[in-house]
Amino acid sequence: MSISEEIFSRDIIKKYSNNEVTIVWQPNKCCKSGICVKGCPEVFKPTKRPWIQPENSTTEKIIETVKKCPTQALTYYFN
Ligand code: SF4
Repeated sequence: MSISEEIFSRDIIKKYSNNEVTIVWQPNKCCKSGICVKGCPEVFKPTKRPWIQPENSTTEKIIETVKKCPTQALTYYFN
């Protein structure tokens, strides 16, 4: 495997927390459907950095939105 293939296939995992729940995002699984952005635009902001801002909504709404991710690029766990 070349270095570029290795970098491309690496499993990247990003985590964003509001101290109650942690959102886990795996960009390699994201199909950019935008369902999370439509469902909870106050948290999922693709033009901002970080693009996931869990402090802007409730844990309940975050979980509800994460569960709708069609590829499981988004998952969550309680802190
Ligand atoms: S809902 Fe999931 S697959 Fe769709 S843009 Fe959000 S993270 Fe990516």
